[in-house]
Amino acid sequence: MMCLRLFMWRVTIGKPVEQGNQRLLTNDSTALTGSDCLRAAERRALSTIMAAEDQMKATVVALILDSKTEEAIQVASNWYRVSVPTLGIGVVEGKTKGVAAVYSQKRKEILAARREFMFDPFVMIHEFYHHLRSVSGHHRGTEKQADRFALDFIDAYRRLAAARRAEG
Ligand SMILES: [Zn+2]
Repeated sequence: MMCLRLFMWRVTIGKPVEQGNQRLLTNDSTALTGSDCLRAAERRALSTIMAAEDQMKATVVALILDSKTEEAIQVASNWYRVSVPTLGIGVVEGKTKGVAAVYSQKRKEILAARREFMFDPFVMIHEFYHHLRSVSGHHRGTEKQADRFALDFIDAYRRLAAARRAEG
């Protein structure tokens, strides 16, 4: 509550942060420092701005880690407004050794080579990228692009997890 007040004050009046801290400390007997509050408030404001997309990405990763991959892929598909790909476990002929998963454009299916890969956010989001590109009428995208796409989700998850930890 107090954090929010300080933040609002700073935004509406635009005084330097130090003055805001002093006012708060003279009016309130709390041990909370203004800059602590401010950091929290700014983080909150920032997370509102970035929120939607980053939270979607973090949610997708969290769901996969929680073994709810189908739900995760549904969340991502809804976000990008594409059809939901089928998920399966199995091996495609001709592509076997060292392959964690494949995406079949014809079947619109993500096929994990083993069950454990189904719960690997990097693997699943990488394949989802191929689906996303394919159904959007693009080329399936390069491996590097798919990797970057997946890492971006994982990064969003890590950032939100760290922010939540910092807020205690
Ligand atoms: Zn790939």
